[in-house]
Formats: sequence, C-alpha cells, structure tokens
Amino acid sequence: APAIVWFRNDLRISDNPALLAAARSGAPLVALYILDDESPGEWRTGAAARWWLHHSLRALSESLAGRGLTLTLRRGRAPYVFEQIIAETGAGAVFWNKLYEPWAMRRDAELEAQLADDAVEARCFHESLLFEPETLRTKQGESFRMFTPFWRACLAAPTPERPLPAPEILHPAPLPPDSDDLDAWRLLPQNPDWAIGMRKVWLVGETAARAELADFARHHVVDYKVERDFMGRVGVSRLSPHLHFGELSPREVWHAISDPGSIGGEAYLRELGWREFCHHLLISHWDLPDRPLDRSFERFPYRDDETSLDAWRNGQTGYPLVDAAMRELWVTGWMHNRARLVSASFLIKHLLIDWRKGERWFWDTLVDADLANNSANWQWVAGCGADAAPYFRIFNPALQGEKFDPDGAYVRRYVPELAGLDVRYIHRPWAAPDDVLREAGVVLGVTYPHPIVDHAQARERALASFEAVRAQP
Ligand code: FAD
Repeated sequence: APAIVWFRNDLRISDNPALLAAARSGAPLVALYILDDESPGEWRTGAAARWWLHHSLRALSESLAGRGLTLTLRRGRAPYVFEQIIAETGAGAVFWNKLYEPWAMRRDAELEAQLADDAVEARCFHESLLFEPETLRTKQGESFRMFTPFWRACLAAPTPERPLPAPEILHPAPLPPDSDDLDAWRLLPQNPDWAIGMRKVWLVGETAARAELADFARHHVVDYKVERDFMGRVGVSRLSPHLHFGELSPREVWHAISDPGSIGGEAYLRELGWREFCHHLLISHWDLPDRPLDRSFERFPYRDDETSLDAWRNGQTGYPLVDAAMRELWVTGWMHNRARLVSASFLIKHLLIDWRKGERWFWDTLVDADLANNSANWQWVAGCGADAAPYFRIFNPALQGEKFDPDGAYVRRYVPELAGLDVRYIHRPWAAPDDVLREAGVVLGVTYPHPIVDHAQARERALASFEAVRAQP
C-alpha cells in the first residue's frame, strides 16, 4: 500500500526525517500538503506568510518533481482531508514531522486516533527544534521560565545530530491523487499587490535558504555578536522565515555554524536557543498567544486608541526609528530584531496599547510570523511573560536610534522624507533648528508628523500604570 508523506512546516527534502523514513520504507509515495485554515482558528497563517507559503510550495513541488514525485495539494480540515485521501489511495501509512502549535498538537492527536481506528500506521518524527521541548525540565521537574537555565540545560543535553541526507530515490504511487491548483488557493495578494517590496528582497525555498546559510556562516557569523544590533547593516542572518517554514532545519543551521573555525557562533546559537525557549514556553502554556503569563497583567489599564494604533501600523508616529521599523515590516514582511523590540515597546509603553493588538498586526504582516516566537516575544516586551524585560525599562526611540543606527542609514532607507536630514537630527527631527529642516525639505506636521506622544510624558504615564497594577493585591 502507498505511504503518505504529509508536509507541513518542513518544506524541504534534505534533513527531513519523515520523508527519508517514508522513502526507506520502500512503499510507493504520495506527497501531500494540506492548507488547513480551520484548525488554527484565529491563528490561521497571516497574509504575508501566505505569500511566502505560495512560493515555498512552488519550490518544494519543483524539487519533488525533479525526483519523480508529484506534490498533491488539498484544502480543508486535515482529519477530514485524510479520510478522503486514504479512501482514494488505499494508503497504509502516514509520515509527518511534529509541530508544536497547540492547535496543531490537538488536531494531530485527533488524526492519530482516527488513523489508528482505520488501521493506518502513523509515524511522527521530531525535527523542527534542536531539543525536544518536553524533555527539558528544571530540577523540580517543571518547565523553565528563565532563559539562562533553560539554555544551560539544552547545552548539557546530547548535541543535535548531524543532518540527514536527502533521499536519493522517491518511488511515486502509480496514480497520484488529484491536486488543487496552487494559484487557485489565492495565497498571493490580489488587488492591490502589496508584495512588490517582498519580491525584491526574498528568495524563497530550500535551495535559496541553504545558499544564504552558507553565505552567513562564511562571511557574517564572525561579526554577529557585535553587528547584530545595527539595523542599517548586514549583521543578522535573516533566516527566520526559512526556519519557520522548515526550508532549513535548525540542525542544519547548528552544524553549519558550530563547525570548528566559526567564531561568533556561540552568540548566534544562543539566539537559536531563544527560538527553542519560545517553543518550550508555548507547549507549557497553551494560552501564551492570548493571555499574559503573569496574570496580574490582566488588569493592566491599556487604552483603546485606534488613531494611535493606526499611526503605529502605518509608520506615522513622528519617531523616525519606530516609523522606519513599521515601514520595513510593511514593505519587506520582516523587521530587524532591535527594531521589533523598540517598535513593540513603543506601542505598549508609549501608547499604552494592549500587546495583543501589536501581536496580531505582526502576525498578519511578518513573513516569519511564528506562534511561539511572536507571542513569547510580545509578552517579553510587555513585561508580562517569562523572563520578561523589567517594566521600568522603557526604550527611548531617539537614543536607540542614535546608538544602533548611528549614521541614520536605516531611517533614510525606510523614511525617505527624512533622508536629507543632518545626522544629528535624523532620530529627533523635532529638535532640529528651522534652517536645518528647511535645507532637508522637511516640514514637520506636513511632510513628516510631529511626535504623537511626548517621550517624557509617555514614560511617566507608563510607569504610573505599571505601578498601579503592581500595587493591587
Ligand atoms: P538572527 O539574529 O540571525 O537569529 C537567528 C535565528 O534565531 C532567527 O532566525 C530566529 O529563528 C532565532 N531568533 C533570534 N532571536 C529570537 C528571539 N528573540 N526569539 C525567538 N527566536 C529568535 N521571530 C520569529 O521567527 N517569528 C516571529 O513572529 C517573531 N516575532 C517577534 C516579535 C517581537 C515583538 C520581537 C521582539 C521579536 C520577534 N521575533 C520573531 C524574534 C526575532 O526578532 C526574529 O526571530 C529575528 O529578528 C529574525 O531575524 P534573523 O533571522 O535575521 O535573526
């Protein structure tokens, strides 16, 4: 009987344990991808990530076709799709790699039970994290809430295994089941086409991902520790969407980076450790995307302020760094980590808007939108998560800009109306003398907004709100 290889966020051929095991089983294969928008509920794949998904599926289907296998596309709730496809193919086994989103774990458990009832073998593999998150426990046998001891426990665990090879031969089932047409799924933006900037900056798919990893490992990881905070430079790897969609496995990244001779690798692997930690938090707290881990934050006095929320989303806050960040997100579907920290902090602390509103905006606009990484990081910035940033640390966007975008290159790239401004004022145009503004063609309130809040006042207001929450029993 044929075996089904169910691709999910593991859209690659190399180091794919489910695919390799299915190929080695000797059964003829059916390769399947299901667009399941029902099981995740409100956390269904967001718009920018759908753009990525389209191209990633195209790339996967081409590389499978190169090995003689057709990728079948189906849409619907996965357990229901499996009923149909097993009836159509008579498949005797299903192979897949594990996911850690709570909705996916619930759905996959249901599917496993259904397959068992039908006497179809289910074989599930672990590949999307370096360390099995359930196996990491504190001395008290609990899940971790602090990163440093968590990462120490990871490093004490056996080193991640070497990546597996791509299967050499894939025997297709004699008749591949009918497939949907990828274009008909309409994962790409229709009208307007907002993906122009994304097409310019990204190459999607396993082959491109591997080339980028090789380039980063060879030329940039050495300087990662120093360069990673500078938003206008090529300091970070930009591998996050490739990792989210599984075009690369973290094991492959780990071994490319930690090979002898790679300096700076340690700092980089620590960031992969944060990815592990976020997943560990999510599987330990299934409500992480929706509820503050620190429950006292449920009474935090967030404000309803649609006008400010819109200014933030559109990059019109009057703070150049925040605006550059939000526009980078809109144009490219990605944002530098330092910029994510500052723009998220601005929404929560300067505007006192609920972190969940920012979390949802990121969810829809990031190509690397990832339930674990996104929710854990938003909670961290909001001060209500595990190992969270202390609430009294309120980023000053102008100072952050001066420190991590010292020549203003990042602001000039994404906020072109300020491009001609003297470097002394690029992060604080409100302080520039009239003649400097005039020379740069900047008219505050006309070509570029006045700050929507005053930093010092916003800071005081945020501190008072946090104090009020803490003061309550
Ligand atoms: P690099 O610096 O090159 O790091 C390498 C890899 O390590 C990344 O690709 C990523 O997989 C992982 N990593 C790095 N930093 C973190 C971190 N803080 N938490 C978890 N993993 C990390 N990352 C996402 O992948 N998806 C998200 O939806 C997401 N939302 C975020 C929201 C906020 C408010 C913040 C502050 C951070 C968020 N991050 C998210 C984490 C981080 O900003 C991105 O992973 C990183 O910027 C991706 O760029 P890179 O691949 O160049 O990172």
